[in-house]
Amino acid sequence: MLADKDRIFTNLYGYQPWNLDAAIKRGAWDNTKALLELGQDTIIDRIKASGLRGRGGAGFPTGMKWSFMPKNPTSERPSFLVINADESEPGSCKDREIIRHDPHLLIEGALVAGFAMRARAAYIYIRGEYIREAETLFAAVKEAYNAGLIGKNACKSGYDFDVFVHRGAGAYICGEETAMIESLEGKKGQPRLKPPFPAGAGLYGCPTTVNNVESIAVAPTILRRSPEWFASFGAENNKGTKLFQISGHVEKPCVVEEAMSIPFRELIEKHCGGIRGGWDNLLAVIPGGSSVPLVPAAQIMDCAMDFDGLKAVGSGLGTAAVIVMDKSTDIVRAISRLSYFYKHESCGQCTPCREGTGWMWRVMERMRTGDADISEIDTLHQVTKQVEGHTICALGDAAAWPIQGLIKHFRPEMERRINERNGTGAQPMQEAAE
Ligand code: NAD
Ligand code: SF4
Repeated sequence: MLADKDRIFTNLYGYQPWNLDAAIKRGAWDNTKALLELGQDTIIDRIKASGLRGRGGAGFPTGMKWSFMPKNPTSERPSFLVINADESEPGSCKDREIIRHDPHLLIEGALVAGFAMRARAAYIYIRGEYIREAETLFAAVKEAYNAGLIGKNACKSGYDFDVFVHRGAGAYICGEETAMIESLEGKKGQPRLKPPFPAGAGLYGCPTTVNNVESIAVAPTILRRSPEWFASFGAENNKGTKLFQISGHVEKPCVVEEAMSIPFRELIEKHCGGIRGGWDNLLAVIPGGSSVPLVPAAQIMDCAMDFDGLKAVGSGLGTAAVIVMDKSTDIVRAISRLSYFYKHESCGQCTPCREGTGWMWRVMERMRTGDADISEIDTLHQVTKQVEGHTICALGDAAAWPIQGLIKHFRPEMERRINERNGTGAQPMQEAAE
């Protein structure tokens, strides 16, 4: 278990105030000027050496991403940092806790990361539903400006750096980085085709890096405590500490910072008091937010909670939002509900996703009530394969994968329902949701 002294987020539960004075007492903004004096290239090299991989779900190496930014931005074509705080993945709630209780870790991280990539400013795009969190963030940014920590001559470093907070309006798709950029530009939030990646053409066509809140908030501590310290946690290629968000049928749902690669059983025993009704009652787990396939109980127990460990069982770490389902779960209904979510949130721009998500959800509803034909299970699987990899952004994949996981692991349950034609007695999802 991660020792308290190794925790980056020491105010995760808000036992202390979030404000600047309290944040400084916890170690934030401690001689940040000295971090900047390391120089841009050294900062990037150290983040690379730490092994930090993006904490928003995709796990792209953070230092490498920063290194894609131009070394000589001009005033006509400045560089920007965009911080993705549009945390909307079902099950994910870690960035919310950082912003609620330790916003200065994020703002200091924005300065350090922005400096390293030679950015003129950072835009923090926070999801519209995070109303109180946005208020906290606005107030914390103001505190940092008033203290001379950001703005002109930030931390007396000679570097000018602005931080803007922008509120979203409730669209899940605006968490996709290029849709977020469109939204920041005042347009409808629809993903762009990649490449070009944002580092080549991002906000206002300028070089831009989009990073998750957690990825940015850990950067100053990594630089202060050393990349080797951060890399001492977790397995090869899966380094560092990580915020896990455990919800569902555990005794005590929580958000907790742990070492990467901690085995699933240990994570749940130590922080959540075990599975509701005991380990024999565990049915399945969605380990990384709703966009990754579920894993049945037998395969997840001893699994390392990291990118490679979860890939080996056919799933992924994603945002590390661990959704635990015990045997009382109607698993077909649960996945059908996710299908509805993706259908609802599809931006409608590309045909496989716009049509496919609606189609998949309607068949899933028939699977739920047992009104489908057995042959439709294979047809449904084929449709998920036609959506997967054939869309502009990852939402199409995210809609397909949970269904693929269901068919792979719970096909007998789907067949049982159809054979018995008995349904669940629940109201059709359309009536409940629309
Ligand atoms: P991605 O793999 O396409 O990209 C990841 C990052 O790496 C992006 O910033 C991208 O610009 C960069 N990148 C990748 N290849 C590059 C290259 N060749 N050159 C330069 N930059 C490159 O993934 P994505 O679509 O950004 O994210 C998908 C993930 O988002 C999913 O795995 C899901 O878990 C996660 N997600 C998170 C939330 C949330 O609330 N945090 C919501 C939905 C999805
Ligand atoms: Fe929009 Fe879906 Fe296409 Fe993404 S995959 S661009 S959400 S229609």
